[in-house]
Amino acid sequence: DLSRISRALLSVSDKTGLVEFARALAARGVTLVSTGGTHRTLTEAGLPVTEVSDLTGFPEMMDGRVKTLHPGVHGGLLAIRDNPEHQAAMLAHGIAAIDLLVVNLYPFEATLAAGKPAADCIENIDIGGPAMIRAAAKNHEDVAVVVDVADYATVLADLDAHDGAVTRATRRRLAQKAYARTASYDAAIATWLAGEIAAEPETQTFRALGGTLAQGLRYGENPHMKAAFYRTAGAARPGVATARQLQGKELSYNNLNDTDAAYEAVSEFDPARTAAVVIVKHANPCGVAEGASLVEAYERALRCDPVSAFGGIVALNRTLDAEAARRIVEIFTEVIIAPDATEEAVAIVAAKKNLRLLTAGGIADPRAPGQAWRTVAGGFLVQDRDNAVVDDMPLKVVTKRAPTEAELSDLRFAFRVAKHVKSNAIVYARDGATVGIGAGQMSRVDSSRIAAWKAAEAAKAAGLPESLARGAVVASDAFFPFADGLLAAAEAGATAVIQPGGSMRDDEVIRAADEAGLAMVLTGHRHFRH
Ligand code: 5GP
Repeated sequence: DLSRISRALLSVSDKTGLVEFARALAARGVTLVSTGGTHRTLTEAGLPVTEVSDLTGFPEMMDGRVKTLHPGVHGGLLAIRDNPEHQAAMLAHGIAAIDLLVVNLYPFEATLAAGKPAADCIENIDIGGPAMIRAAAKNHEDVAVVVDVADYATVLADLDAHDGAVTRATRRRLAQKAYARTASYDAAIATWLAGEIAAEPETQTFRALGGTLAQGLRYGENPHMKAAFYRTAGAARPGVATARQLQGKELSYNNLNDTDAAYEAVSEFDPARTAAVVIVKHANPCGVAEGASLVEAYERALRCDPVSAFGGIVALNRTLDAEAARRIVEIFTEVIIAPDATEEAVAIVAAKKNLRLLTAGGIADPRAPGQAWRTVAGGFLVQDRDNAVVDDMPLKVVTKRAPTEAELSDLRFAFRVAKHVKSNAIVYARDGATVGIGAGQMSRVDSSRIAAWKAAEAAKAAGLPESLARGAVVASDAFFPFADGLLAAAEAGATAVIQPGGSMRDDEVIRAADEAGLAMVLTGHRHFRH
């Protein structure tokens, strides 16, 4: 039950109480061994001490990184005293037993707390100290280990009470404390390092979202900005984060951002009900359409704004088939994303080496809850994702004329699209296809005018005599604050309007709609997208 202490190794950074303790040990017949600085302190106090380099046959080196990492030390700590083989090894290699280890570690925590630079923190990560502590603690049946200045007295009390020996109970307590110390020491290092990594610019997002790196990106929105793509933990929403890239150039930051916008928009269209295609440029749809087939939906989406569609992102809500693939590759396209792709379609796209083809593995549920994050200076904003779907909204007819069934269907379509257009969003639609989109203007009337102008341009491009806005319906992502935006739509030839309502001037807007012979429905839901 008792371990006699004949030889002690002392290696301490905090030299508080060291000389007194060492003197007390020497007075009780304990031989002292120590490392450089500790040795100096003890020698200066006139105590007889052996240097650890005498045990190892090596000088301390590499700025003290390597002092005690040697079988001469670790053999002396780890050898089981009543094990004949261990004894033989000690004898064979001239290893002397160490019965008491006194170590306190390089002051990593204090260096960190003092706000020292990273290089100083690194240099204050003790290596040999924890190694010896763990070795001695493991062999606590034979060795006593002291990691806390407060335990000097504990050991001396034992030595006096037990004729120069330490009890097993004390040794076990000290061993437990030793492991607790090395654990907390390494935890402090790990926590610090995690913070250092999180502070690197390319991992800011990682820290904010708790994600895992999906892909390093060449650069961000602009070439001078570093960037990376992180996947958030938890339920995987089918989309850019779940997608498999089957071919094409490496995806860029802008590609990912636009592809996400496109796929989220196309996910609003239930593939069981209709085929649908969304073409996105700069995160805004420039053409959205339903169709009997994907190729038909694509043709119709393209017709909305063929100029902008050049170099766009094409998202489809059903498995990409050969027919659609053949048509899409005719025009310069950056990315195609679909839930899946047929083998034939993949082969067709393969002819365009650079064109990126992604399969998301499924279609996302537009009603699914989730969160959207955005950074602001010095923080970030979190909100629910906009999971409101027009089909769930009780539409209120506010004009004298109620919309026809066909108008109603297009109104829903237009409002579904408006949700994915940057505010102020005005969307003209007809027969399940957009015909004019006004996005991101600072005034609603400007968006109205742009959307109407785009509809006229689309007609010209298609060689049609009349603007595509004529006879179309129009959606507004938020209420018309004045009648002017609505009047612009009426002038362009729209027949029906869908908008949230809720303006102070709703009455004025409704009156204007009635005067223009428009049918208007209110959704009670706003789809701002800033
Ligand atoms: P001293 O002041 O005696 O020169 O150094 C004492 C410190 O060195 C103690 O904190 C001890 O844990 C640490 N130490 C002992 N051996 C080694 C080693 O091999 N490598 C490193 N990095 N530190 C050690």
